[in-house]
Amino acid sequence: MDGRITYGDGLRIELPGGERIAADASHPDGDVAVVTHAHGDHLYRQPPAAAVWSPLTRDLADVRREGEALPERVEHPRIELRDAGHVPGSRAALIDADRTYLYTGDVSTRDRFYLEGFDPPSADVLIVESTYGTPDYEFPPVAEVRAAFGQWVAAQGDRPVICFGYALGRAQELEWLLAEADRDRILVSEAIADLDAVIEDHLEISLPGERYESVDEVGPGDALVLPARLRGSWVDDLIERTGAATAGLSGWAVDSGYRFARGLDAGFVLSDHCDFPELVDLVRRVDPEAVYTLHGSAGEFAAHLQREEGYDATALKRNQSRLSQF
Ligand SMILES: [Zn+2]
Repeated sequence: MDGRITYGDGLRIELPGGERIAADASHPDGDVAVVTHAHGDHLYRQPPAAAVWSPLTRDLADVRREGEALPERVEHPRIELRDAGHVPGSRAALIDADRTYLYTGDVSTRDRFYLEGFDPPSADVLIVESTYGTPDYEFPPVAEVRAAFGQWVAAQGDRPVICFGYALGRAQELEWLLAEADRDRILVSEAIADLDAVIEDHLEISLPGERYESVDEVGPGDALVLPARLRGSWVDDLIERTGAATAGLSGWAVDSGYRFARGLDAGFVLSDHCDFPELVDLVRRVDPEAVYTLHGSAGEFAAHLQREEGYDATALKRNQSRLSQF
């Protein structure tokens, strides 16, 4: 019998013995819940009683879902978690059953700042994210982005600088970059500061951001890191009032329209995902018998793997089951 893979509410893998794994599901109803990382689109809405996840992801979930029941952290004899290099605490799941299954979750193989890139193990069946799964997405080296960002910040002189990014992952990278760029103060929102405290504790690092009491304190020479979703309303007033320069960092900044669409003064290419060449390299290193792709350019990436690399590759479509036969 073959395992059955379904992509719908998260990823479901039904092992030949009948055991059901629900990974990154909002309503995990399998026998085993796996949570790869604490980004909102991978974290449950209805908490399972227990989950296979890293201690850091569990503590980050506790901050993000304050006041809700927190699933117990359990281990599973068939599931090994490997550092996925995406955000603090993120893990890929290597499942040892009739054959080995590797589910990457969101993944980056690139070392950057305090994060080590994913080191792909070999597996029979690979289920890989493909956010940037077309050849247009090739990211510059981190050192180049660091230098360009530092120069841009320096060129702003005394103007406050406001940087936008996800509260988990990007915000901490921005703090790191801004510390190198030598700003008077690096201020962060309360949501970011709460996550920083957990990350500092687990990874034994020190992040330079200080929680601001009120945005009224933002002045010349300061830098401010805010969650991207806060654009609009009071943030626009703040930019207007202080004359702040704004920047965003994302893999999507490869597209020239990125900063215009978001009304930013500058955009820099920095991602917590693999770019296209890194995705191809990841697949080669896992060297699976079958590949399933999900998220972003899943169809195009599967077609590329099939055509150019000779893999048995399939894009997972929502609510369609696939037998992992080959
Ligand atoms: Zn993510």
